[in-house]
Amino acid sequence: MTARPDRVVVVGGGLAGHTAAVTLRSNGFQGRLTLITQESAEPYDRPPLSKELLSGTTGRPTLSPGLHGLNVQLRTQTVAVGLAPGEILTTAGKIPFDAAVLAPGLTARQLPSGPGAPQARVLRTLDDALALRAELTADRSVLIVGAGLIGAEVATAAAAAGCQVTVVSPEFGPALPVVPDSVLDQIRGWYDECGIELMTGVRALETTSAGVLLSDSSVRPADLVLAAVGGSPATSWLDGSRVDLDAGGFITADQYLRTSLPGVYAAGDAVTWRSSRYGCDLHLEHWHHAAESAQVAARNILGATESYDPLPYFWSHQLGHSLHYLGRHDRTDTAETRTDTRSGVSVTWTRDGRPTAVLAIDAPHLVRRARSAIDTSHRAENSVVQ
Ligand SMILES: Cc1cc2nc3c(=O)[nH]c(=O)nc-3n(C[C@H](O)[C@H](O)[C@H](O)COP(=O)(O)OP(=O)(O)OC[C@H]3O[C@@H](n4cnc5c(N)ncnc54)[C@H](O)[C@@H]3O)c2cc1C
Repeated sequence: MTARPDRVVVVGGGLAGHTAAVTLRSNGFQGRLTLITQESAEPYDRPPLSKELLSGTTGRPTLSPGLHGLNVQLRTQTVAVGLAPGEILTTAGKIPFDAAVLAPGLTARQLPSGPGAPQARVLRTLDDALALRAELTADRSVLIVGAGLIGAEVATAAAAAGCQVTVVSPEFGPALPVVPDSVLDQIRGWYDECGIELMTGVRALETTSAGVLLSDSSVRPADLVLAAVGGSPATSWLDGSRVDLDAGGFITADQYLRTSLPGVYAAGDAVTWRSSRYGCDLHLEHWHHAAESAQVAARNILGATESYDPLPYFWSHQLGHSLHYLGRHDRTDTAETRTDTRSGVSVTWTRDGRPTAVLAIDAPHLVRRARSAIDTSHRAENSVVQ
């Protein structure tokens, strides 16, 4: 895009949409800026929903800086239903644009439910979290499907609220390709310490009027069922538009976060972009990615040619411990685990002697320390390959 746009529309009132709007203004964009969100409130932060908000130590988690004073036309309860060149079609009419940022995020996956079964709860929005918090009362039996980050975090809050908690998952681990058994055993032990029953190797098939039907044909009764089984990109409204989606429904973008339609960029959980660092198409569902991709998309709209090339990073607080992960490893990388009573536990993965990723338990400083070595190592690897 060569000329600076006069009208920018951002679709999605999550972290990526919010950050895109703030970045446009902080980089001098003075034109008309519209942010469309189907939610009823202005953008808020999601990580506290499964942590502080559920445990009652925070209320509505805000994003800072807020949109107040930025002259953003915030269209709440407005759903984007289609996109044509130069205009977004919404439930409140057409909104013309010169440039757009698509940041619709994910929709939480549901469990199938049989006849007469109450719907399993999910956790993606503030409303989901407020409803769930009210339901986590002492002595209720709570069955959580999925032992990933959100499943483990909700289990933590439910156990602390006095619920009888069971977590069911076919696999076990912190959403990473392979983690050494010794570390998985350590994490498993946290469930015991919190009084949470962990059932692995079994799949939840559907909610029934009696509870949850498992793949071993047993039915597990529960007062409350939470499906923490990931999400799908909220992009069906782009079907038939000139914005390309991949087989999983993610918006495809190049290294500058440009979609297939000129002037239209994408950011956040719903984008798959071309990573120069890894030489492949990548998508991430983490906080830092949502914020940083939105910043790059916004600056590129204003004339920059910035390649989006982050080191993947996420954190989680669960079962009384913290996890921090930086980089990207695969099954063939060599893992080395270090345990130090003072500095914590870490796993470092290497390939051909160069670090690819680090996982640190209760030791965020180890991730900070490893950053520059992982960053340099990937850049070096790519320059050899090309
Ligand atoms: C409970 C929870 C805990 C998390 N904890 C962590 C953590 O500890 N660490 C970490 O790194 N990451 C965490 N994450 C992930 C992180 O919060 C997400 O990566 C980030 O919120 C993604 O931002 P986004 O703007 O791309 O998408 P979203 O936050 O999903 O926002 C998308 C917005 O677009 C709206 N929208 C969708 N379709 C339309 C449409 N057609 N029209 C109008 N509006 C639409 C949605 O309603 C939503 O408001 C957590 C996520 C959740 C849900």
